[in-house]
Amino acid sequence: MKKADLYNRVVAHFQATMPTAGTELHYGTPFQLLVAVVLSAQCTDKRVNMVTPALFAAYHDAESMAQATEGQILEYIHSVSYPNSKSRHLAALARMVTEEYGGKIPTDIDELQRLPGVGRKTANVMAAVAFGQQAMPVDTHVFRVAARIGLVPPSCKTPLQTEQELVRHLPHHLLSQAHHWLLLHGRYVCTARNPQCVSCGLADVCRYALKHVKGGDAC
Ligand code: SF4
Repeated sequence: MKKADLYNRVVAHFQATMPTAGTELHYGTPFQLLVAVVLSAQCTDKRVNMVTPALFAAYHDAESMAQATEGQILEYIHSVSYPNSKSRHLAALARMVTEEYGGKIPTDIDELQRLPGVGRKTANVMAAVAFGQQAMPVDTHVFRVAARIGLVPPSCKTPLQTEQELVRHLPHHLLSQAHHWLLLHGRYVCTARNPQCVSCGLADVCRYALKHVKGGDAC
């Protein structure tokens, strides 16, 4: 199958099955989304959504969180993964946003990556979700699913290479939505250890399924 045909098929599949895909993180402002995304590294959105209501009630914006110590933030987030480093990052992030950006989250990807605890993926999530830009954040789910389906070649070994390949081939106006499609597909169907190929609507075009699924057996 030609690459363009594969992309068209995948886009059509997700447009039909997930027309309103979006983030599962709960937030009210760009600052709160940034905090939630930082907390979600190596952690489930479900767990993050359990701790953020109390955290945001105590520190609802960058200015208020900038007044908090790492220890005070830690009290609210100790049940997420890597709570010590995340509380340290959030305290420093809130101070930088307050002191250098007047309390407003920068919208530029490079500026965002200056913030403590914010890498390229998190910056792209902010661009895509908080600021309505077209961007392709590549997390572990997007990375795995894109490779399995065959949207990117086996030579794509890093999230940045996968991002660049997806950006090259997907319609620009669908980039952010495609991020949600691939992420949610990876979270609920094409899971890391047990992809549900038998019930997946992409099995007839997916590189992984064509190689590993024989006679209707599960992967
Ligand atoms: S067919 Fe299997 S490997 Fe391919 S996308 Fe679907 S669940 Fe993932």
